[in-house]
Amino acid sequence: MTAYDYDLFVIGGGSGGVRAGRVAAAMGKRVAVAEEFRFGGTCVIRGCVPKKLYVYASQFPEQFEDAAGYGWTVPEASFDWRKLVENKEREITRLEGLYQKGIAGANGEIIQSRATLVDKHTVRIEAENRTVTANHILIATGGRPNPHAALPGHEHCIFSDQAFDLPELPKSIVISGGGYIAVEFANIFHGLGVETTLIYRGKEILGRFDMDLRRMLHETMEQKGIRILLHSVFEKVEKRADGRRDAHVTGGEVLTVDQVMLAIGRIPNTENLGLENAGVEMGKSGEIIVDDYSRTNVDNIWAIGDVTNRVQLTPVAIHEAMCFVETAFKDNPTRPDHDCIATAVFSQPEIGTVGLSEDDAAKRFANLEIYRAAFRPMRHTLSGRQEKMLMKLVVDGDTRRVLGAHILGPDAGEMAQLLGIPLKAGLTKDDFDRTMAVHPTAAEELVTMYKPTYLVKNGRRVE
Ligand SMILES: Cc1cc2nc3c(=O)[nH]c(=O)nc-3n(C[C@H](O)[C@H](O)[C@H](O)COP(=O)(O)OP(=O)(O)OC[C@H]3O[C@@H](n4cnc5c(N)ncnc54)[C@H](O)[C@@H]3O)c2cc1C
Repeated sequence: MTAYDYDLFVIGGGSGGVRAGRVAAAMGKRVAVAEEFRFGGTCVIRGCVPKKLYVYASQFPEQFEDAAGYGWTVPEASFDWRKLVENKEREITRLEGLYQKGIAGANGEIIQSRATLVDKHTVRIEAENRTVTANHILIATGGRPNPHAALPGHEHCIFSDQAFDLPELPKSIVISGGGYIAVEFANIFHGLGVETTLIYRGKEILGRFDMDLRRMLHETMEQKGIRILLHSVFEKVEKRADGRRDAHVTGGEVLTVDQVMLAIGRIPNTENLGLENAGVEMGKSGEIIVDDYSRTNVDNIWAIGDVTNRVQLTPVAIHEAMCFVETAFKDNPTRPDHDCIATAVFSQPEIGTVGLSEDDAAKRFANLEIYRAAFRPMRHTLSGRQEKMLMKLVVDGDTRRVLGAHILGPDAGEMAQLLGIPLKAGLTKDDFDRTMAVHPTAAEELVTMYKPTYLVKNGRRVE
């Protein structure tokens, strides 16, 4: 048998790559993980983690306002953007260290360099201008923001990567996009006091989520003061002499703002990776094509996470990594399970969701029962805030199985995590009904909606 330098070489030290490398190394495999930027990848360095920290930061002004109804007098607050950026940096540096420690502690090798494929068993470590060989190669290079190169003036725009580290907080921003990253950043900037506009080419923000949530979130964001323009795109972006930007929107409106942010999707990091040297096939968007077990068309090369453009979420990349280790090193072929993934949008209010939306369920099931409650959560009673919370269960009327659970409101993400369990287990509405409520909580609504609000028969709503 050929002697390779490594049993496994991982390209990319993000969520998926680090997990696979660490677990394989802990099994005694000879493993190296190469990272060209910072260990931890998108999630830790410029995704989930800093995003959530900024969400927390942006929620304080409302909390200060709400405190008045509970008897507090809060002196005028002020905000220091640089302090937030610095503190965020300290926290992600700590996590970056833990990621490296995890690999090293399992006797894996850390390589701080870009790595590219030379052939199906050979990798070039670019920073050191040397090559190494490996039996298995795992590509976990993630993705990056779509640069929208066709937009005149795209070079004057920022992306989520830059948004975390702006030298100063803009006074105004326009964000293009309707996905969760655009929506979350619109809420973050607005919460921090930035005049914020969101423009989206579609008919409603957050496609693929339940329409009820999308509409109510849209309304609530507008009530807070975020301007949302639908059916709109940028025609061009110009940099003005005063350093601000003129964003020309379809229909002729020109928005003059401090920053223009593009959040119109992400593209896989497969450029100049040497995939053609090894004969690895890619799809139309540059994603690596894999089979059900994350194996590419080349038998010893695998790919997981965002670079495969399946479901772009951290827990999914980690799950795919664990399945890869089972398949490649434990003689236990294991397919990642992408069905019924609970997820959150850290908008304000937050979304937590799992399973089918009403519209998707109506395409697949002839008889649906919809349970829906919109109410003012208790915490907003004394604060006087008018924001409503929405809870919705989509139930198959024939089997009583709960197909979808959708929440808009405080802590919706936390609730979605727990709802993921009964939905994954295939539990029925009767199981929900048999469950005692926890009182007083907002979540108790999920087990106390006894009568359907309406039915959907063959795709039609019936009262
Ligand atoms: C703003 C934002 C917010 C997000 N929020 C959430 C969230 O709330 N919840 C959630 O679940 N997901 C969230 N995500 C998605 C999540 O970050 C990704 O799904 C996850 O990081 C994917 O992991 P990965 O291992 O596939 O790739 P990544 O984490 O992107 O890691 C890939 C790594 O490979 C490195 N790399 C690339 N090419 C090479 C090369 N040739 N050589 C060496 N290294 C290379 C990159 O530098 C990177 O560090 C968010 C993403 C963004 C952008």
